[in-house]
Amino acid sequence: MASLTGKCAVVTGSTSGIGKAIATALAAEGANIMLNGFGDAAEIEALRRSLARRHSAKIGYNGADMAKPAEIRGLIQAAEKELGAIDILVNNAGIQHVASIVDFPEDRWDAIIAINLSAAFHATKAALPIMIRRKWGRIINIASLHGLVASVQKAAYVAAKHGIVGLTKVTALEAANLGITCNAICPGWVRTPLVEKQIVARAKAEDKPVETAAKELVGEKQEMLDFVTVEQLGALAVFLCSDGAATMTGTALPVDGGWSAR
Ligand code: NAD
Repeated sequence: MASLTGKCAVVTGSTSGIGKAIATALAAEGANIMLNGFGDAAEIEALRRSLARRHSAKIGYNGADMAKPAEIRGLIQAAEKELGAIDILVNNAGIQHVASIVDFPEDRWDAIIAINLSAAFHATKAALPIMIRRKWGRIINIASLHGLVASVQKAAYVAAKHGIVGLTKVTALEAANLGITCNAICPGWVRTPLVEKQIVARAKAEDKPVETAAKELVGEKQEMLDFVTVEQLGALAVFLCSDGAATMTGTALPVDGGWSAR
């Protein structure tokens, strides 16, 4: 039997990139999933159907805007109602904006803090009582290597990601003896739409082919010149939900091709 059969998971921002791969990996282990995120309605429905068909799990979708606390509470309520429980919460939805502090648009600061940090607080606050009742839970926060180190032109993102590493630790301490763990995953460069925008902007600014800009972007930070893959992050999320990780809590795990070893 698959290792997560019967468990119920909410994965925010799972219509693309890392969240989609984590939802896919959890579904492949038998978990029922509530998908969330923006995108084309027909594509989202196709994803929902294909996960349900391939893995014979219950797969739902809720379009809550993770910038809006009331909608986040609605997502958790809907997931509990439709799936029957919430055992796993993956706080993944995120956005990026690249600019120096003096030029940083205030509305982008507010949006990044709301979606990349506050959303995880609101979702955790709403989901924890359900996990406490069930005496079992796994909360996985998708931080970033930028939760541990900084880069220029990413003030809001770095602040939000350092914040989510702090939130991870507090959640871990408060839930320590309740059967619930909370850990943060800190990826280096993953080639998703969020990063593709940065690669294209760099190629344009430096008048280089996109693939050259992509190689330079990775090489500047990571010792390993390959991008981290979304499948690798899905595999780590599955491990964090396993019994093998039952006493791992409050950690911030780099998956960064050696970036943080430098
Ligand atoms: P992505 O752009 O492919 O996916 C982002 C997801 O979040 C999408 O499903 C999108 O619809 C959703 N989303 C955005 N705003 C939302 C909102 N207001 N409400 C609901 N959903 C919303 O990006 P990704 O690279 O897969 O990023 C996922 C997470 O991983 C983010 O938190 C990001 O900061 C983090 N991360 C990414 C990288 C990387 O290199 N790509 C590295 C470290 C951390």
